[in-house]
Order: sequence, then structure tokens, then C-alpha cells
Amino acid sequence: MKDTIYVFGNWKMNMTEKETSAYFERFLSSCCVAKRYPDCGCSVVVFPPYTSIPETRNCLERHYQRQRVQCLVEYGAQDVHYAQQGAYTGEISLPMLHELGCTWVLLGHSERRHLFDETDESISQKVCACLDSGIRPVLCFGETLDQRETKKTQEIVTRQITSVLSATENHPERKRLVFAYEPVWAIGTGRAATPGDAEEICGFAAGVLKQNVGYRELTIPFLYGGSVSPANAKELLLQEHISGLLVGGASLKPDAFLEIIDRAMEGNVESSR
Ligand code: PEP
Repeated sequence: MKDTIYVFGNWKMNMTEKETSAYFERFLSSCCVAKRYPDCGCSVVVFPPYTSIPETRNCLERHYQRQRVQCLVEYGAQDVHYAQQGAYTGEISLPMLHELGCTWVLLGHSERRHLFDETDESISQKVCACLDSGIRPVLCFGETLDQRETKKTQEIVTRQITSVLSATENHPERKRLVFAYEPVWAIGTGRAATPGDAEEICGFAAGVLKQNVGYRELTIPFLYGGSVSPANAKELLLQEHISGLLVGGASLKPDAFLEIIDRAMEGNVESSR
């Protein structure tokens, strides 16, 4: 059993402020992450669009005050610029996210790589900037369908990961990095990788990490993302190298997201039997 598992919800460009408020009313009324599986640590993080981050904070703070217990849900942003400030029209900086209470940032999501031409270099710069500022980066990586069919998955995964590992090899906070394997062909398609396939690539990627001096002694969590649903969450968490899930579409429905959290914890607990 893993000490902590991670269930992350990427809302993408969905959820207005009003919708966010309704979402948390439902989600937090049923969210009892630690109660059913008290021995299983679960880090739940939502990634709203920037404009809904303040309302996310309000909802979680109100819940915390009412419940008088540590609220286990954190929140983060879907991207960030690497510079602290300056002439970057349309961008958002780490100090801005800090002020809003964000503790995580998604980086290198395939939609950022493919629709907005993000490169391994710019993603690595952002990862370093996050580590510098105390915000935890989630590095997304994964191959396209064409790359998979032409048997280039390992090459692509190695390239995407190695770029970040080289940039962070000596960073004192590198242990705070989290990786998310998201095969592009599985995102938003309803066609998830099989748990076996996802495990194979996460195991391979973990091997790439171990070849890097700076990461040899560290245990960095790997998440799987791509059409995760209540139906496949448990089986994914039964895999040795999968410590969590990055959920897109299904995280927009509070009940489905809650069920995924529950199934993931069940899988983790069962994996120790
Ligand atoms: C994602 O966008 O990170 C994602 C995994 O989406 P979905 O779950 O909808 O495939």
C-alpha cells in the first residue's frame, strides 16, 4: 500500500465562479476522504481555471471553519509563467498564485504542448520556477496516438522527462515534483489506457528517474491520467507504480469525482492484501 495517493481534478476551461460555488456545495457535503479508509492518506487537489480560484478558496475556507477539521482538499492552477512579473500580456505569475493560496501547478499538459506550442524547455523553466517558489509542480507527459503506433512511446517519454530531470537535478526541492503519465490518445476520448499499459509506462518512467543521479534516492509519485472514471480508478491504483490519478472530464461532476476518490483509496488499501 502506498502511504499517500493523489487524486487530482483538472477542470480545464470549465466552471464559472457561480458553478464553482454550486460544485463545492455538493462536493464538500459528501467529501469524507479520510473517514472510510483512515489508514490511507489521500491528497485531493482541484485545478480550476484562474478566475474560479478565489471562489474555490472561499468555499474551502468556509468549509474548514464550519467543520473545524483539517480540510484535505487543496487547489492549484493549470499553468503559470516562469517569470515573477513583467511584460507578458495574458500570463499569470507564481506570486499571484501564491497570494491566492495555490499549492500546486499543472505543467506540460498535452493541451498546452499541442494547442499552445509549449516546449520541453519552457516547461522545464516553469518546473524550476515552481520549485523555487514552494509551489508543487505536476509534470504531465505522454505520447500521441501516432507516436504510440510507431512504437516511439519510450523515446518520447524519455525525452519529456529527461528535459525536466536535467533542469532540476540539483534543485534542493526536487523531491516535491510529481509526474503524471497522460497518453494524449486517452485524454477526453473515453478510451483509457489499460491498467497494465499505464503501469508499464509508469514503471518505465520510474526507471528513467532512477538513471538520473539526482533522483536515484527519491520516491517521486506517478499519476495516470486519461479517461479515468469510477469504473477504472480502483484497478489503476492496484498497480505498483501508479500512486494517483489525474482526472479531467469526470472531475467536473462532484459525485463522479467523489466516487473516483473512493475507488482509488479502495484500490490502494486492497493492493496491500
Ligand atoms: C486531462 O485533461 O488531464 C484528462 C485526463 O482528461 P480526461 O480525464 O477527460 O481524459
